[in-house]
Amino acid sequence: MNIEKIYKDANAYLEGHFLLSSGKHSKFYLQSAKVLENPKIAAKLADELAKIIKQADIKAQSVCAPALGGILAGYELARALDLRSIFTERIDGKMALRRGFNVAKGEKFIICEDIITTGGSALESARIITELGGEVTAFAALANRGFCARYNSNKTAKPICKLPNDVPFFALEDFEFEIFEPNECPICKSGSKAIKPGSRGN
Ligand code: ZN
Repeated sequence: MNIEKIYKDANAYLEGHFLLSSGKHSKFYLQSAKVLENPKIAAKLADELAKIIKQADIKAQSVCAPALGGILAGYELARALDLRSIFTERIDGKMALRRGFNVAKGEKFIICEDIITTGGSALESARIITELGGEVTAFAALANRGFCARYNSNKTAKPICKLPNDVPFFALEDFEFEIFEPNECPICKSGSKAIKPGSRGN
């Protein structure tokens, strides 16, 4: 399955000057919403991800996704694995579990994102699940930005990766492109201003 082609065909592989949710800047951005607007492609990607997770014999009863970006991927993965699907969301900047969603003691979870960059939001979701008595058995994403090491990859995680290294991380593809601290960003230095993806029709 050629994930890069799927993103390019959906005009979801954007080039410009982007402010990422981590606060860092990048020349490229993966707009997964543009891929997932096609439910058939969303199902195909989730089925593929589910296959790898099943082969690794991961035990889980539920999928939890950090909103907003992770919801569609998490929901599709839950469908593909026949699991329950819930999500956490940010309230005043802090990740929270709302809407009557509950976590049973010992309940096993896969934390699912659309894209894992540093894994910060996924880690915040995982903390909520464990605080409520659940257990995180895997992390999953459609694509990995190359800072964390996905399952069965020969690459090692970079220090910037926030995912724990004792829990497997499943993704369909690595997309490695540089990210910059705002004060070191070469695109900023050339005079352009970073935009938040999705804020100006992109
Ligand atoms: Zn910049």
